[in-house]
Amino acid sequence: MASIKILGAFGGKANGMDLTSLQISPNSVIDAGNLIDALGSDVQNIDNVFITHAHLDHLVDIPFLIDDTFSLRKTPLKIYGRKENLNHLKNHILNWDIWPDFSQIPLIDSDHKAVEFIEIELDKTLQFDQFDITAIANNHTSSSNGYIISKHDSSILFTSDTYCCDSLWHRVNSDLRISTVIIDVSFPSQYEKLAHDSKHLTPKLLKQELQKLQRDDVTIHINHLKPYFKNELIEQIYSNELLLNNGSILQSQDIVEF
Ligand SMILES: [Zn+2]
Ligand SMILES: [Zn+2]
Repeated sequence: MASIKILGAFGGKANGMDLTSLQISPNSVIDAGNLIDALGSDVQNIDNVFITHAHLDHLVDIPFLIDDTFSLRKTPLKIYGRKENLNHLKNHILNWDIWPDFSQIPLIDSDHKAVEFIEIELDKTLQFDQFDITAIANNHTSSSNGYIISKHDSSILFTSDTYCCDSLWHRVNSDLRISTVIIDVSFPSQYEKLAHDSKHLTPKLLKQELQKLQRDDVTIHINHLKPYFKNELIEQIYSNELLLNNGSILQSQDIVEF
């Protein structure tokens, strides 16, 4: 059975609650909310970071990842993302003012630069030794995306931050290899306007979204709870019976099989 490891699963930073990151192979992660603390010295093995969007809770460890591992690297840290998101990272974070532009700085005794930005497009699959990965549209920022990770014949869909989105469910309904979904629930159901304005789901909205699921064999895991609302959200997630087929509310160090 294939698996990925959760390195952080919350939509805000608080004691014992880590920001969003998933490890999909020993050297590859999706998002960089919590790499340094979660991986310890293994962080030096990370060569590939796939980003879902440029919100800080998904990127915050990238500057420190590069800085901490710089002198150990023989090859660049590759950051994969849609053009707009890579531009946000280049223009607003790795811009010399906030943090050095490591895509201009050569590694020690090497012609390689420390960082390489690699543009990806929606619905184009990239193949690696241990997995395939495909960016798919979600409904959060103007350039955000989720990812489908495939290993052997099984796939998991990580929606990343999203509001209501027909195309995600269409994808799950039409691709029977997708056995498992990890989806965003950030705010309690009574904050529906806030959820709409910030493009996140509530338990009530996810309940409605699940009406679009035409399969009964998909496991639903939930992440991205806002720490302040954690206890209320847990109550609403259980009372709405959202964790289909033995899904769970994810936290750091969980192994998700699919
Ligand atoms: Zn987020
Ligand atoms: Zn976001």
